[in-house]
Amino acid sequence: MIPIVKPVMDEAEAEAAAAVIRSGWLTQGPQVAAFEEEFARAVGAPHACAVSNGTTALHLALLAAGVGAGDEVITVSHTFIACANVVRQCGAVPVLVDVDPATFTMDPDRVAAAVTPRTRAILCVHQIGMPCDMARLLPVARRHGLTVVEDAACAIGSEIRMDGAWQRIGRPLGDVACFSFHPRKVLTTGEGGMLTTSHAAWDRRFRLWRQHGMAVSDVSRHGSAAVVFEDYPVTGFNYRMTDVQAAIGRVQLRRLDAMVAERRRLADAYRDALAAVPGVVAPAEPDWARTNWQSYCVRLPAGCDQRRVMQGLLDRGVASRRGVMCLHLEPAYADLALRFGLPHSEAVRDRCILLPLFPGMTEAVARQVVGALAGVLDRRPVLAGGA
Ligand SMILES: *Cc1c(COP(=O)(O)O)cnc(C)c1O
Repeated sequence: MIPIVKPVMDEAEAEAAAAVIRSGWLTQGPQVAAFEEEFARAVGAPHACAVSNGTTALHLALLAAGVGAGDEVITVSHTFIACANVVRQCGAVPVLVDVDPATFTMDPDRVAAAVTPRTRAILCVHQIGMPCDMARLLPVARRHGLTVVEDAACAIGSEIRMDGAWQRIGRPLGDVACFSFHPRKVLTTGEGGMLTTSHAAWDRRFRLWRQHGMAVSDVSRHGSAAVVFEDYPVTGFNYRMTDVQAAIGRVQLRRLDAMVAERRRLADAYRDALAAVPGVVAPAEPDWARTNWQSYCVRLPAGCDQRRVMQGLLDRGVASRRGVMCLHLEPAYADLALRFGLPHSEAVRDRCILLPLFPGMTEAVARQVVGALAGVLDRRPVLAGGA
């Protein structure tokens, strides 16, 4: 069986976690601080603040943007549902715009049309690792005075060319970028998240909010020779990352370049092999973007029954997933009034599938997956409504 993903982890992560357990300091402490520093350096961000997961990172980013009751946040439906959940958690309304059918990321041309006097922020998503077209999105945001929150949950190690120079996603282009370290992502700590920003004041707020609004960190109190009484200047949350997770994350970060390089080799192998399968459209990078290939999303030929193709693959020992969800088609958002049609988003969900891609998979396995797909597509029953 070829799985859809497999985290890259070995004795190095196990030993790092064991060392934390032996140290006696389990939650947010020296390992979290070191992970933040190394992460900031890795992506070129002035500040990085670790939190419990990607969703809590998004929540704090929206709070820092001042998103509150009655506000609107422009985002996409073609994303993980957490994006809209956090908007609602702030009391605000998600306004959904469609994606560009070439890159499957937020279409900047559609954003301007979605701005109203209630719009507070743009939540754009570097979906499955593919950077959004920030060079076109940022001027729209600037023109309307909107905060830009980048959902970089899937995009660690992805790169974008801005003003002629390549830079990693996470060196904030907007105001803040939010990462996830869930096992489905390229770099994992089991659960975990990170906020990177260039605003020092925002970084200070994230640090307060993530630990109950408490102004003194456990590390500084623990290390103090004098008695310290803590105080709580703001209402906060418990969104802390543990030192066990951070220690694992530090080892993962050292693997990042190699993991991304291997993912790129596998994507190349997929592209070459798929060229021989008529009707299947392989994903392509625009010349200003380099994805980390967090997922490899192919478009099936018109008229295919997606579920039957996926079942055919499964029967041949290949796991797959359908294209990224559309949150507006989930019952939780059935009551959300849509302002725009979302045909490209719906087409991705219903006509695309994700193929296995993970370090250690080998190019031969990628070719085997494509062979299985070609075999499945050759059979008549995959045609929707087929005889
Ligand atoms: C995974 C993901 C999230 C949520 O991250 P968690 O760490 O699971 O909370 C948010 N947005 C996108 C686009 C994601 O892929």
